[in-house]
Amino acid sequence: MGLVVGMKVYVLDSSSLMYGINLSVMCEDAEVWITYSILEEVKDKHQRELVEALILSGRVKVKEVPKSYMKVVDEVSMRVGEYGSLSDTDRELIALAMYAKNEGLKPVVYTDDYSIQNVLSYLGLEYSHFGTEGIKETWIWEFYCPACKRTFKFPTEDGLCPICGTKLKRYRKKL
Ligand SMILES: [Zn+2]
Repeated sequence: MGLVVGMKVYVLDSSSLMYGINLSVMCEDAEVWITYSILEEVKDKHQRELVEALILSGRVKVKEVPKSYMKVVDEVSMRVGEYGSLSDTDRELIALAMYAKNEGLKPVVYTDDYSIQNVLSYLGLEYSHFGTEGIKETWIWEFYCPACKRTFKFPTEDGLCPICGTKLKRYRKKL
């Protein structure tokens, strides 16, 4: 199947890849994209074999995310305050969806992870899930010092209050 503008692309994280039955069905009306590190996270032998068979038959595509997209996702997850909650693989997943959208495709990310969903939502990217409820609202994390009560829009590099040196805490602020 060649790439067509407006075509649906499912971008799956490793926990979504575990839903094997859905995966085979999904491949029928859309492309399914993952990255190599997402595949690496599938430890279950049976599931891994299924995914690898789908890759071999060309139904699941293993994509490489352009570096420039990773940079944008790093910046955005910092801004939203989720950077510390996301693994490299998580950020790669988000970057892959961004990349698909910029290519004129319609990505839907499948993930149960609230931090990933939050960043996707902030970026206006569509997501869905097999398991949990999904988030109901978008928020950003803001940071405050429990000692001197100052608030900060961004996390500091060492996680400490630049004024008094106390460890900053974060709280959800609705958008
Ligand atoms: Zn302080």
